[in-house]
Amino acid sequence: MEHIHFLAFAMPAFFIFLFIEFRIAAYKRRKDIFNYESSVSNISIGIAERLLNLFVTGSFYQLYFFVYDHYRIFEIPQTPLVWIGLLLTTDFVWYWYHRLGHEVNFLWAAHIVHHQSEEFNFTAAARITTFQAIIRTGFWCLLPLFGFHPTMVIAMLVVHGAYSFFTHTQVIGRIKWLEYVLVTPSVHGVHHASDEKYLDKNYGDMFTFWDRLFGTFQAEEEKPTYGLTHPLKSYSFLWQHFHYYFEIYALWQRSDGFRAKWKAVFGSPADMDQDIRPMLEKRFLQDKKHDRSRLKFRNYLYIQLGVAVVMLTLLTYHFDRLETYETVLASLFILITLVNCGALLEQRKWLYYLEYVRLFILSLYWLYSQGDEIYFWLPILAMIVAEHLFSLSRYYQQALLSPEPREC
Ligand SMILES: [Zn+2]
Ligand SMILES: [Zn+2]
Repeated sequence: MEHIHFLAFAMPAFFIFLFIEFRIAAYKRRKDIFNYESSVSNISIGIAERLLNLFVTGSFYQLYFFVYDHYRIFEIPQTPLVWIGLLLTTDFVWYWYHRLGHEVNFLWAAHIVHHQSEEFNFTAAARITTFQAIIRTGFWCLLPLFGFHPTMVIAMLVVHGAYSFFTHTQVIGRIKWLEYVLVTPSVHGVHHASDEKYLDKNYGDMFTFWDRLFGTFQAEEEKPTYGLTHPLKSYSFLWQHFHYYFEIYALWQRSDGFRAKWKAVFGSPADMDQDIRPMLEKRFLQDKKHDRSRLKFRNYLYIQLGVAVVMLTLLTYHFDRLETYETVLASLFILITLVNCGALLEQRKWLYYLEYVRLFILSLYWLYSQGDEIYFWLPILAMIVAEHLFSLSRYYQQALLSPEPREC
């Protein structure tokens, strides 16, 4: 499981590059590149993906070996020239995986999360989900099926995946001559735009010739407006992940007959009923007319994100040496912290109860490590009594969720 140790270094590397990008943006006086809430939301989603991938990446790799051992079509040797063939094939498979991710409702439900960001910087690159990783693995299975050896495939996927990180930035301007061959930040920025002429363009990850071949290439002309055509009205961690699945379900429910129901799941996102999301938002989200920027929680949010990142890095590094209860409880703690960050941005009233759940996880960890997990009810009882006697939830909401005076 050497790959897991290696992935532990991806997190610090990400923050180093993000810091460099942030400094360059400040130097160029491009304040518009970063937005506080959006960056926090992007990073939270990236942390969750890294975390959940820890549990599934190993089985992805096993799957590539399984497909190669049992079903490979050709015997492809492991020669230096084959690497070029593998690179081109990987990017070609990516093109179709990505394009179908935009053209099929069920696949778009996973990929839409990547496009919710209305800012375009390195944090947007982190905005991917484990659902997307699972779907992508289905497509990547084509590579060992063709006969590329899984060790080559795995190495290639690391390189191919890393490339797309660097195409999510505005601090590098247009490099026209490079666009003939490679996807540049400007080319991928067009893909993230919601302007009419930029829609459904530039699906390539590394090379632009697939887009040119299939008529989906578009160079940057006017400055793009980043994000979805119908932006999401929430920073809720859970809502961002699942809203489109709810939309598909709502469309399925209102569709009559097999054809219509089939279209609800496998049809085009362009045909999604546009009244569904506002209806769901009304049902599931709080109305938020408050001014988010002046609330007291910023430092608390930074601390939480910091803790989540450090915990994830340590968990990744030690993953195969830890006991099951340790990995499960640590992962739950991180996930609840991320839901908490999203809820803070939304000022949810139930936020307080998440704090109790986190405390419970911590005490459960301690009890487990002492072999006293049978006493799990003790911290629950203590928390109920504490809430009853001291009304802690009221103090918590006053401390974190009330607006600060203007000058702050
Ligand atoms: Zn896309
Ligand atoms: Zn992207």
